[in-house]
Amino acid sequence: MDGLNDPSLLVARSFVDGRWIGEGDVSVTDPATGDVLAHVPNLGAAAATEAVEAASRAFKPWAAKLAKERSALLRRWFDLILANKDDLARIMSREQGKPLAEARGEIDYGASFVEFFAEEAKRINGDTLPSHRADARVLVLRQPVGVVAAITPWNFPAAMITRKCAPALAAGCTVVVKPAMETPLTALALAKLAEQAGFPAGVLNIVTGDAKPIGEVFTSHPAVRVVSFTGSTPVGKELMRQSAGTVKRVALELGGNAPFIVFDDADLDAAVEGAMVSKYRNMGQTCVCANRIYVQSGVYDAFAEKLVAAVAKLKVGHGIDDGVTQGPLITPKAVEKVERLIEDATAKGATALTGGKRHALGGSFFEPTVLAGLTQDMAIAQEEIFGPVAPLFRFDTEDEVVAYANATEYGLAAYFYARDVGRIFRVGEALEYGMVGINSGIISSEIAPFGGVKESGQGREGSQRGVDEFVDIKYLLVAGL
Ligand code: ADP
Repeated sequence: MDGLNDPSLLVARSFVDGRWIGEGDVSVTDPATGDVLAHVPNLGAAAATEAVEAASRAFKPWAAKLAKERSALLRRWFDLILANKDDLARIMSREQGKPLAEARGEIDYGASFVEFFAEEAKRINGDTLPSHRADARVLVLRQPVGVVAAITPWNFPAAMITRKCAPALAAGCTVVVKPAMETPLTALALAKLAEQAGFPAGVLNIVTGDAKPIGEVFTSHPAVRVVSFTGSTPVGKELMRQSAGTVKRVALELGGNAPFIVFDDADLDAAVEGAMVSKYRNMGQTCVCANRIYVQSGVYDAFAEKLVAAVAKLKVGHGIDDGVTQGPLITPKAVEKVERLIEDATAKGATALTGGKRHALGGSFFEPTVLAGLTQDMAIAQEEIFGPVAPLFRFDTEDEVVAYANATEYGLAAYFYARDVGRIFRVGEALEYGMVGINSGIISSEIAPFGGVKESGQGREGSQRGVDEFVDIKYLLVAGL
């Protein structure tokens, strides 16, 4: 790959027990050009088992280290990630398609979890409780669960890994990661930096290969105590079923169907700006992207006009080229889904105010699109688009829009723009979502708990609560005093 300051960061082998293993037989391609960037190993159940067992052997000594020692290693990893930000961003942009500026932003965001949990590692405190017996004291410990298995998606090739690994490592757990096979190179580059930071062998392992056999080992091996997954809802449900056999804890960040509501009293320019970042970031391929934009009747036409004008400024192209704000979609299959959803909507009466079809650049490029006249009977009202399509729904009353917004099995992120303080609290409390952005289209931060309700998942990542998934609560009753 051209343009890397440190070419050794481009690694095409899996990382197990401190060794680089496997031969590359699965190609990793640039979705913008189809160029093959590397071949990574297609490992299966045997290598996954080896990685889990290496992590299991590494667990006790890692958990026994002082919190301060684990913290220092995480901090070193954080420093190395930032020092290599340009290379990591370039690798990510090439394999994933996102614009370089967004890739750099993701490295900062991903690194922020490593920094945050390096600090948090020293504060995984327990409790002493007022005793129920005069001769006893009651203590509550928070102990690391053991081996954590993580399965991550392609849309945030760095941040989804650090958001799981950093809190797990901080707590004293060891980790085995299976990254998405569309974007394994960012994961392997992060592992290379973890190796340079000096994590002991087996503490962090990365296995590339077929999802199914690796997932089956992760969900059935008795040494794995937590399966942490980010991806689609059907796969999340399957992993949950598989994990039942050994009663593993499952942490799931699944699909979303985010409503983005613009009330009559909103600051319209701010709402357009928020809709642009919430909708078109990563070409609409995030689980918190605005999926349904509900606009109140009084401002519907003005909002639509301003949104179309903002969309006209987007520049579609190869993510590593200057000024590009929209790369390709991840695969041709993703384009087909977007086309199907647009066809369904237009057949039922929606119209394209701009875009609506494949981009002249070909491949998996798609025109940034705004659709008007959406209604609740269209597939877009129920399905996650995962593409650069902003569908506008008109509504009249607050009660009506809250009912529409909640009429989905998903419950990850929601957004709304309003100035009335009463409305802000009423709607904020009524939305059945894990996260609500009010007058903001961006909500993610390492300091805040990220996660969903209903079929969008369970558990929270980031914030002080991000460690909770990776610790067991142990109660010690010390009697006979
Ligand atoms: P997406 O549609 O965004 O690719 P997926 O849920 O299919 O979402 O993929 C997210 C992650 O889950 C990827 O790392 C993928 O390889 C993995 N995955 C897909 N199917 C399975 C499975 N049956 N078992 C374990 N992991 C899986």
